[in-house]
Amino acid sequence: MQIDIMTLFPNVFTEILGTSILGKAQKSGLLTINTVDIRDFSKDKHRSVDEPPYGGGGGMVLGPQAVFDAVESVKKEESEVILLTPQGKPFNQELAYGLSKIEHIILICGHYEGVDERIREHLAAKEISIGDYVLTGGEAAALVLTDAVARLVPGVLGNVESASQDSFSMGLLEYPQYTRPADYRGVEVPEVLLSGNHGEIDSFRKKESLRNTLKRRADLFNNYHFSETDLELIREVIKEEMERGSE
Ligand code: SAM
Repeated sequence: MQIDIMTLFPNVFTEILGTSILGKAQKSGLLTINTVDIRDFSKDKHRSVDEPPYGGGGGMVLGPQAVFDAVESVKKEESEVILLTPQGKPFNQELAYGLSKIEHIILICGHYEGVDERIREHLAAKEISIGDYVLTGGEAAALVLTDAVARLVPGVLGNVESASQDSFSMGLLEYPQYTRPADYRGVEVPEVLLSGNHGEIDSFRKKESLRNTLKRRADLFNNYHFSETDLELIREVIKEEMERGSE
């Protein structure tokens, strides 16, 4: 997979995307991440790319020419051009899975007051937001999207299982994880995890996954299909939580 990021601040990306799992994936050739400096496409001798908005009002708007030229310098037939904007579709794990199957993604990071509307209407095929808040620029959003998408590209994570068990992948939050020591400051790891009984461990994990979701993100249940076993487990969880609550 290749991701090209159109930005006014290419240096922002080097450290984060070149480190750890994503750094290794780039070295091994599974992933290519490039940044394109929008200013390199300015036709202005001061490399300026922004202008005041027509109609007045505060701030500056990123104009169309340099952004169109930057995108067209890397665009191929199969490329998906995505504008990062707080007005876009909210980003989530499902969207990340979909994007991880695309060969070439081009991300446009806005800045200032935003981007000229013609970029959104005639250049970007998709608009994505990373949440209902406004950032100063699209760079942090591009980092979030690139990280979440790239780790789902087959081969990028060493352990294939770890992504499929992650929160949101199966519609629930993940179960709690423990590592050594088995007893830390008197708090013990649940015994079942030390038992070596994989059937019981799976059942424990499913139940705790349901409990985490119930306690923290019950809204996820609206789109979750409960199996018969899930229903039994969630009944137990609710009973246990009610008993705890009344203690
Ligand atoms: N005036 C714009 C509005 O109200 O919709 C906000 C512009 S924001 C200050 C500047 C740039 O940051 C945007 O063009 C976009 O690229 C990026 N940005 C800000 N918040 C974002 C979010 N929640 N998700 C994705 N990108 C965001």
